[in-house]
Amino acid sequence: MAGTTTPTERRGRVLREALARGLLHPRDAVLAGFVDFDGLADTVRALRRAFPEDLEVLHAFAAKANCLVPVLAELRSLGMGCEVAGAGELSRALEAGFPPERIVFDSPAKTLSELRWALEAGVSLNIDNFQELERVADLLRDDPPRAPIGVRVNPGVGGGAIEAMSTATETSKFGIPLTDEVARERLLRAFRDHPWLTRLHTHVGSQGCPVDLIARGVAGTVAFAGEIDRVLGGRRVDGIDIGGGLPVNFADDRVVPGFDTHVEHLRRHAPALFGGDYAITTEFGRSVMAKNGFTAAYVEYTKEAGDHRVAITHAGVQVAARTVFAPGAWPLRIEAYHPDGTPKRGAPVVQDVAGPACFAGDLLARGRALPLLEPGDIVVLPDTGAYYFSTPFHYNGLPEPAVHGVRSDPDGGLRTESVRPAQELPGVPVPDPAEESRRAGGAGRTPRG
Ligand SMILES: *Cc1c(COP(=O)(O)O)cnc(C)c1O
Repeated sequence: MAGTTTPTERRGRVLREALARGLLHPRDAVLAGFVDFDGLADTVRALRRAFPEDLEVLHAFAAKANCLVPVLAELRSLGMGCEVAGAGELSRALEAGFPPERIVFDSPAKTLSELRWALEAGVSLNIDNFQELERVADLLRDDPPRAPIGVRVNPGVGGGAIEAMSTATETSKFGIPLTDEVARERLLRAFRDHPWLTRLHTHVGSQGCPVDLIARGVAGTVAFAGEIDRVLGGRRVDGIDIGGGLPVNFADDRVVPGFDTHVEHLRRHAPALFGGDYAITTEFGRSVMAKNGFTAAYVEYTKEAGDHRVAITHAGVQVAARTVFAPGAWPLRIEAYHPDGTPKRGAPVVQDVAGPACFAGDLLARGRALPLLEPGDIVVLPDTGAYYFSTPFHYNGLPEPAVHGVRSDPDGGLRTESVRPAQELPGVPVPDPAEESRRAGGAGRTPRG
């Protein structure tokens, strides 16, 4: 995150600021997400610096990574575009103020009405398959598109470490496979028949795909663009959308690999991408947001179960679904804090860190060595700015927690602003402060998000 302090110090500072403002409270704000807008500005700067200044580059943030409208609006004000994957995200991108021509609509399941909406609004889109191509051709029969139209191809370079995140395998549900000669010929004919087709798009995969694999997928796509131009005799493809997928390091605070490393690999494998013939679109999501957000939750109870020590916290499957359901693929760090927001420094004790949901697997971590957690302590989950608190899971009717934005004041202080209010639960009694203080230290907390 930002400034000369370390990311851990920054999280501690934000946490103490949140406690001072009551944004975290053991009675009625037991869980919250935080977005660091200073860190986000630094990340977007690093992304823009990594690409050559003299090329036309649209950095379209993958909205699914964090689809909260104020976050999208912040990214817009930092100069980014937005990649969306359906009516929900398109609606939020427009609400966040992105001009339609800086929105890229990708999805393998665009409905006819979504396509009509996107084309009428002047949003750019990437067609996923031949059936969708026919629909779009039909809709464009009378009017040329107002924004570039591309086709998503699958360069078939194979998968990464997480199968569910790998989209360039032979059997992937995404795009038109370039490894299939028949499909390739058919796509060439489509470019010949439809002069409004001007772009190629690929997204090799997300977390778990090495940058080298992504760069080889982009290289295959750029090579196919060259083939289209050769076969059809002239410049037909004027832009390449290279997707996102830069992996994030969840083990510590280092930003590795960085966007500059990604571009180095792209230059090595696909030098023609940087030759000036193509406008470039990127669609990074996780690498833009993950390290610029964290989750904080109170420890409500602790217990011993068999030979396990267990801390029951308020952060579980509702804000960390991936980690809970696939802990091997999505491990998260956990930091322990005292109730006053100072870091706990006690000797590490092996313990399970559990969430509040009613199933045994709702664990943030099993057998994690941490200072012994006690009721009233706070756990912090770094690197959860993408695909975590912004993507709630509604099991048990667990409410969506508040999300707060944080940024520096000119005078060095921290300002907070609401990014999303906590979900209200009708019928939950409003706590009586006098009654609460009588019970302080007991278990008389009103259950609110
Ligand atoms: C998910 C997705 C992205 C973003 O992936 P990240 O790993 O978050 O960078 C970009 N493009 C498409 C088409 C996607 O499906």
